[in-house]
Amino acid sequence: MKARLHRPTPAALRQLASVLRDGGLVAIPTETVYGLAAHALDTKACRAIFRAKGRPAHDPLIVHVLDLAHAEELSDFNIAARKLTRAFWPGPLTLVLPKKPCVPGIVTSGGPTVALRSPAHPLARRLLKLAGVPLAAPSANPFTYISPTTAEHVRQGLGSRIPHILDGGPCPIGVESAVLDLSRSGRPRILRPGAISAEQIARVLKTKVTTVRRAGKKGVRLLAPGLLDKHYSPRTPLTMADSPRATGDGQAIILLRKPAGNILPGVYWLSRRGALAEIARNLYRVLREADAGGHRRIFVEKLPPTVGGIAAAINDRLRRAAAKR
Ligand code: AMP
Ligand code: MG
Repeated sequence: MKARLHRPTPAALRQLASVLRDGGLVAIPTETVYGLAAHALDTKACRAIFRAKGRPAHDPLIVHVLDLAHAEELSDFNIAARKLTRAFWPGPLTLVLPKKPCVPGIVTSGGPTVALRSPAHPLARRLLKLAGVPLAAPSANPFTYISPTTAEHVRQGLGSRIPHILDGGPCPIGVESAVLDLSRSGRPRILRPGAISAEQIARVLKTKVTTVRRAGKKGVRLLAPGLLDKHYSPRTPLTMADSPRATGDGQAIILLRKPAGNILPGVYWLSRRGALAEIARNLYRVLREADAGGHRRIFVEKLPPTVGGIAAAINDRLRRAAAKR
């Protein structure tokens, strides 16, 4: 199989929507990263996602829906969940809630909860509308590798394993959605930090929001496999550092800001002036470029933990990228 890249013309969108309705796979742009989408209520279609990604069956899928009404067909909403959808949907916030019986076990890895999100990307929304079905869509990359933020990244990773890629250009946010567990009432916990921060969620709920920090604890591993120590990883060993310096010698450095003067080989940068949104948007593209550069090791500059917002998500992904195999 060789993936076809589609420009987002009305005819292509209609065709891809019918592929999805009929149980086929399509890689689609969202505002976070590219997703590998399939009909979420079709067990065979969802099984094909796991096969294409090489993803283990115990790592559940996020289901994408158009809005709250569609989400409520799949899960039992509570007051906190409704408040958050009003504040942040459509957008990069995934809610984990008790599932309804219509959601197949393959989507939730056999568990009693389902992860739901309403994407803001106009092309993802267009496809959801045209297909008229909820779409299960994990990141469109081989399991544990860096998530794709362009159609070309998807083609490099999965081009020989999937039939269709919708090219919507680079993803505007660039890191995966925040995953918030609301299944235990009154005790919201962030399972994966994202562009919607713990502080923003706490402000809406007016309650404390905890963040599950360490992977590997019993239970956490099953509840949120995205929390596995090793994830989002380049093949080149990666180390986080406070102020990495270029030494040559097969070592690459990734800086938060573009350095002054000529950019030496082995030096990469994530933003012009240090803006967090720009760092997030460029993170996976730059990690991929550095990974392809033939270096022995990559040193990447840490964000100070105090900056807040999406910084928690950026440091979380870097920590996992740096975790030992
Ligand atoms: P991906 O879409 O590839 O970024 O991965 C989806 C992530 O969503 C998983 O790795 C889990 O962390 C999380 N997830 C999906 N479903 C559930 C669920 N029912 N409970 C907890 N976490 C979930
Ligand atoms: Mg993923």
